[in-house]
Amino acid sequence: MIRPLIAGNWKMNGTSAMLPVVQEVVTGLSARADGADCLICPPATLLERAAKVAQASALAIGAQDCHAKEAGAHTGDLSAEMIADAGGRYVIVGHSERRADHFESSEIVANKAAAAKRAGITPIICVGETLEEREAGRTLEIISDQLAESIPDAVCDGSFVVAYEPVWAIGTGKVATTEQVDEVHNAIRDKLNQRFADAGASVRILYGGSMKPDNAAGLLSLQNVNGGLIGGASLKAADFLAIYDAGI
Ligand code: PEP
Repeated sequence: MIRPLIAGNWKMNGTSAMLPVVQEVVTGLSARADGADCLICPPATLLERAAKVAQASALAIGAQDCHAKEAGAHTGDLSAEMIADAGGRYVIVGHSERRADHFESSEIVANKAAAAKRAGITPIICVGETLEEREAGRTLEIISDQLAESIPDAVCDGSFVVAYEPVWAIGTGKVATTEQVDEVHNAIRDKLNQRFADAGASVRILYGGSMKPDNAAGLLSLQNVNGGLIGGASLKAADFLAIYDAGI
């Protein structure tokens, strides 16, 4: 049994006025059974303060991106070491919004994931097909290529998380069916087993794409769905905790 991970991605949402949401999740977790790991990835400006709120609690804090290098002339970027120093324990890499908005290739994503490993934090490596690719029947091919190219050998010990996020389901309210999710997650598990043997068998595979309290239980009950990466519904503590409840 793989311990689930319920992860929130706040994207570019949240000023200090959102810190009480972190506190509400901390308090909510302390009153619940310990059945899953729980993570919030706020914007970088809140990372250190959120980590202080969550200190010594069941809630981990992470970042939404990192640079591949440790330091240097990269204006506006944050290294994985800086994220670790600020209290971050995970970093999302290769989110489809970054692949699209910042032209991030899978090779760049793999370098970022290796940087996370170097800094001692866990990369959450995102993959997902567009609607056009799904309609062309290319979903499994795309996912297989993205996995092969975005996961670096540096994490061959299994110290990473995969998030399957169909691009057409992110922020659209269109959730993938359990059959669609089941098919892709089983295929991802096969690929991880083939490449990483036993280490691949324990890697968590999260589903992301319009996961909400009312659809979470069905998705999280699938054998190879080991948690969720949740955008919109992670901005409200009650919704996020309801998804946590569905996952334990
Ligand atoms: C995401 O940001 O990774 C995501 C899945 O967003 P949403 O839950 O809003 O679709």
